[in-house]
Amino acid sequence: MKNIVILGAGFGGLRAAIVLGKNNKKLRRKGYQITLIDKNRYHTYTPLLYEISTTSKETANYLDLKSVTTYPIEGVLLGLPIEFIEGEIQEIDLVNKKIQLAERQVEYEYLIIALGAETNFFDIPGLKENALELKSLNDALKIRDTVWEMVEGAAQNEAVDIVIGGAGSTGVELAGEIQEWLSQLKKEGYRCRTSVTLIDAAPAILSGFDPRITKIASQRLKKLDTSILTEEKIDKVENNKAYLASGKIVSFDLLIWTGGVKANSIAEKLPVKYEKQSRIGVLGELLCAFEKSDLKAEGNVYGIGDIVCVPDSTGKPVPMVARAAIIQGTIAAKNIVSEIKGKKSYLKYNPKEYPYIIPVGGKYAIAKIGPFTIVGFFGWILKGLVELNYLFSIMPNMRALRIWLRGLRIFIQNDRLG
Ligand SMILES: Cc1cc2nc3c(=O)[nH]c(=O)nc-3n(C[C@H](O)[C@H](O)[C@H](O)COP(=O)(O)OP(=O)(O)OC[C@H]3O[C@@H](n4cnc5c(N)ncnc54)[C@H](O)[C@@H]3O)c2cc1C
Repeated sequence: MKNIVILGAGFGGLRAAIVLGKNNKKLRRKGYQITLIDKNRYHTYTPLLYEISTTSKETANYLDLKSVTTYPIEGVLLGLPIEFIEGEIQEIDLVNKKIQLAERQVEYEYLIIALGAETNFFDIPGLKENALELKSLNDALKIRDTVWEMVEGAAQNEAVDIVIGGAGSTGVELAGEIQEWLSQLKKEGYRCRTSVTLIDAAPAILSGFDPRITKIASQRLKKLDTSILTEEKIDKVENNKAYLASGKIVSFDLLIWTGGVKANSIAEKLPVKYEKQSRIGVLGELLCAFEKSDLKAEGNVYGIGDIVCVPDSTGKPVPMVARAAIIQGTIAAKNIVSEIKGKKSYLKYNPKEYPYIIPVGGKYAIAKIGPFTIVGFFGWILKGLVELNYLFSIMPNMRALRIWLRGLRIFIQNDRLG
């Protein structure tokens, strides 16, 4: 059997695997099998990570939080004839069509690269060593434990200052939610003084978003008592101090960096064309664009999700969002099926503006769907429904509903302030 290999079981890779799995009979007849590789045994629903970072230990333990945000991949693939390999990919050899894992090699005939993105610290001195990041469940739990320990260990009136570098959607979500959590902890009797400061180099928070959304989010954060420093670039970090380009120095007890992303560095040395943020350039059919024409390697390597860069009609890169990865996963998988069946027509990926929802503390979110903006509690409800809809699309309905209800119970209990 020849192998169709998918690297990464995130939003894009998992969707590609499901679409290919559903076409298995046709593929088998032509001598193909499907393999999915990921370093984790589970798929992570990242939009919930900010909630995990701010859930009190009394509300939910580690296992509860893990079960509502991460889903075992083998469970998701149940009934689909897909081989899942748990392993860290060390090298992608496009010329010899081989994937190197720690203890084995996997050969492929078709490849889908869906390895996502990682935090970009922009080589700012001291930043990586002194800041926490938020990309995975473990990162989220680390933030939660650190905040909790700092507040618990602080004496009356002692200051606990939290600084978040980067006011994109993750920074804004986290700032709002941490602020709410701290207010709650104080109501429960902790007597330290706390502050949350959001710093960004752009003139406003949520740079690149609709200015109306930026305004609503800024007002909400101010109402929650979050300090916002814009047009301030962090130049250096040391000894619990962030040194800004303007000359200001901001002291912190905890620094969280949400100020940059770049493509997964595993793909850094491939013979492909690179675009902004080290992302791989792809053509309309989502085939990777090669630096030099190499007939041996070209033609069977697809790239999807955060690791690739597709410009929209204005030339701006499509944002790194789950919806884009899911749509691209479906297109890449369908194009592989068509090609194996001998069809010469390919689906093309047409970037468009995706709806988005930005939660800003408690049961409050700002949703933008086309020309409509839904703000507050109904935005938060919509966010929950989007999650449920996603779970329905990757697992049986009853299991999806059970997980969703468990999450709802935890997060409602946690967001007491509303
Ligand atoms: C905190 C946070 C909140 C977010 N909130 C939202 C939101 O509300 N809405 C939204 O649309 N988007 C959101 N996003 C963005 C969204 O998560 C990404 O756009 C989406 O995950 C991209 O999908 P992907 O398939 O490209 O990569 P991912 O989903 O990141 O999947 C990559 C996969 O590759 C695996 N992998 C990576 N390296 C290796 C390796 N060396 N070996 C083996 N496996 C490897 C990883 O384990 C992972 O499973 C958020 C992201 C974060 C970090």
